[in-house]
Amino acid sequence: MPDTPETLDPADWDIHRATAHRMVEDAVDYIRDVRSRPVWQDMPQDVRARFRDPVPIDGQPLDEIYRQIATDVLPYPMGNIHPRFWMWYMGASNFAGAMGDFLAAILGSNLGGGDHAAAEIDKQVVGWMKEMVGYPTSASGTLVSGGSMANLIGLTVARNTMSGIDLREMGVSALAAPMRFYGSDQIHSCHRIAVEAMGLGNRALRRVQSDAACRMNLSLLRTAIAEDRAAGLHPACVIATAGTVNTGAIDDLEAIADLCAAEGLWMHVDGCIGALLAIAPRGSALVHGIARADSIALDPHKWLHAPFEVGCALVRDAEAHQGTFSSTPEYLEAAPRGIASGAWLHDFGLQTSRGFRALKVWMSLKEHGLAKFGRLIDQDLAHACYLSERIEATPDLTLCYPTVINIVCFRYDPGGLPDVALKRLNTEIMVQMQEAGVAAVSDTTVQGRHCLRAAINNHRTVPSDLEVLVQEVVRRGRALVPELVAGLRGDTYS
Ligand SMILES: *Cc1c(COP(=O)(O)O)cnc(C)c1O
Repeated sequence: MPDTPETLDPADWDIHRATAHRMVEDAVDYIRDVRSRPVWQDMPQDVRARFRDPVPIDGQPLDEIYRQIATDVLPYPMGNIHPRFWMWYMGASNFAGAMGDFLAAILGSNLGGGDHAAAEIDKQVVGWMKEMVGYPTSASGTLVSGGSMANLIGLTVARNTMSGIDLREMGVSALAAPMRFYGSDQIHSCHRIAVEAMGLGNRALRRVQSDAACRMNLSLLRTAIAEDRAAGLHPACVIATAGTVNTGAIDDLEAIADLCAAEGLWMHVDGCIGALLAIAPRGSALVHGIARADSIALDPHKWLHAPFEVGCALVRDAEAHQGTFSSTPEYLEAAPRGIASGAWLHDFGLQTSRGFRALKVWMSLKEHGLAKFGRLIDQDLAHACYLSERIEATPDLTLCYPTVINIVCFRYDPGGLPDVALKRLNTEIMVQMQEAGVAAVSDTTVQGRHCLRAAINNHRTVPSDLEVLVQEVVRRGRALVPELVAGLRGDTYS
């Protein structure tokens, strides 16, 4: 035994206290002043090089480490907390949530289960999520890393429940017929990963063509189900998307619920984008019928702006949920009293150890109240409407799809350019705006058409930010076209 045993605690707490104070002071300024910084900036080579240093064998003082973070990390964020970031579909984070992650780490608890306050908050937040989408209190749920995991949880419960066998014991090789899941061709890529991980294979996920509004074509869905039954396959589950990642389209949830009831299929809703419309005064009508689903995936790190990561899987039939994942090894038996006497929260998913991700959601919901989050969702919808109108009113800008929620698909199109040139032009505009740090949009190709895509899921955006976007796209587009046309004449687009 050494004379003085080692510990990770500091020898002098006051030095750490001072460093921690500085971190908090800087953090407040960092968020307060976010608008004055570029959305994004490229990292210089010397900064990149430092991230390739080998593992440190000996330690250094915490304030030196923080100094490196201040120079090498804080100036180079992804950008999603900036008011002019609208790429993919991200949340913009929030201060109370960030403090929640900090306090969760200070507490250091493991949410695998047990009887402690953090576990109660985890269960309370799941209960709040149920309330938000209109699920009964008898339903079940769990907080996970994000929407991909939430979908995997829901689909796994669907698979086991619909399999007709003891799937946990027998595995997929014992299935009487191959199971089939259905989603539209606009379905998120995580579902493919899910059916692969579930051992069903990518072919088990049948993509049903979407209609002109990018919603699942339900008569084609009916045909697909009938075809599969006739071919001896086992139709098991329809995955409806409430808010597709490309255009924000919302499948007809009521009609899909009717169809699933008539056909005896499980209805899962991927509500990572749109499920929380249910809490918005104006937006809620768009997801009417969502509570009829057997399972729902939603994503508090998107429209509740929780710092990454937190997703949520909800399952209407609590027994089916727990029956899919529960297992009690001898080292995790419940005790009659004490720390091990609480519910085992790991019984509702794939993880054993779980973080206290509930706290950041709990704190921001308590600070702002659900009504404000609902209004912020409606505000995003209004901003998307405004941007769409500005695009339609601006020469050389084309709205590619009617805007349904907060995703706006558009492109710079001066007319007369072939598709391949338009794609190159719009990609260049997008990248230039990012490199200049002025605004961040992403791009996608929907039903064969390339477009820029602004997902306005950002509580810091104001209308003038959207005006900046319109002007920057037009200005850069105009400047780029002559070069592009010259290039076309030089036949570089063969
Ligand atoms: C974001 C998203 C997902 C995946 O969620 P993550 O939180 O990124 O894992 C799944 N489906 C849809 C529709 C999404 O928008």
